[in-house]
Amino acid sequence: KKIIIAIDGYSSTGKSTVARQLAKALGYIYVDTGAMYRAVTLFAMRKCFVDATHFNKEALERFLPFIHIHFEVNTKTGIAEVYLNNENVEKEIRKLEVSKLVSPVAAVSVVRRKLVEQQQLMGKDKGIVMDGRDIGTVVFPEAELKLFMTATAKDRAERRYNELIERGDKVTYEDVLKNVVNRDHIDSTRKDSPLRKADDAIMIDNSNLTLEEQFEQIMKITKD
Ligand code: C5P
Repeated sequence: KKIIIAIDGYSSTGKSTVARQLAKALGYIYVDTGAMYRAVTLFAMRKCFVDATHFNKEALERFLPFIHIHFEVNTKTGIAEVYLNNENVEKEIRKLEVSKLVSPVAAVSVVRRKLVEQQQLMGKDKGIVMDGRDIGTVVFPEAELKLFMTATAKDRAERRYNELIERGDKVTYEDVLKNVVNRDHIDSTRKDSPLRKADDAIMIDNSNLTLEEQFEQIMKITKD
């Protein structure tokens, strides 16, 4: 029987790595909801931008009906990539500039309403692993399996820093650490669907786990 697996947690806790591994092992679809918020943010940066840290909320709300987000599997890698109005933006949305603006954009209620609705449709046939901040609490409160991932801020910033450097982005560790901490703060204190652990979610602290150990631990939980 196919189920829904909801993975939530703080920034850069390795949610997408676990989600991908699980989806592959189970033959499920994987949906990265952070990519959807990032794509909307990229739109805001292009069209509703005021300065490096501020966007025009009213403009974004007006443009919302014209923002279309979808995923397409890259046939070479087998990984689903995100499209903003039919443009592949998978690379661009991972940049630190987008990370700096995404939490304020994700706090806009009408943005959340639109994306949550789309996410619920994607999961209607089950057989899905979805990661984000509100999957177990808001998108699929009925999910059969919920995980909530944490790790120390230092571990998380290191992970994200290495990813960005590997891609050739020019960032400093301090900047990345600041961004991770700042996003967690905005995400957990916003009015609409704040980041929190669902009561029935299983807490996973992966500060001291290798990827293999973590995957083994989670597969064991999934089988139970
Ligand atoms: O998962 P990722 O780090 O790519 O998410 C980027 C941002 O998108 C988060 O910091 C959060 O502000 C927002 N987000 C959200 N709800 C989700 C997924 C992401 O608010 N379900």
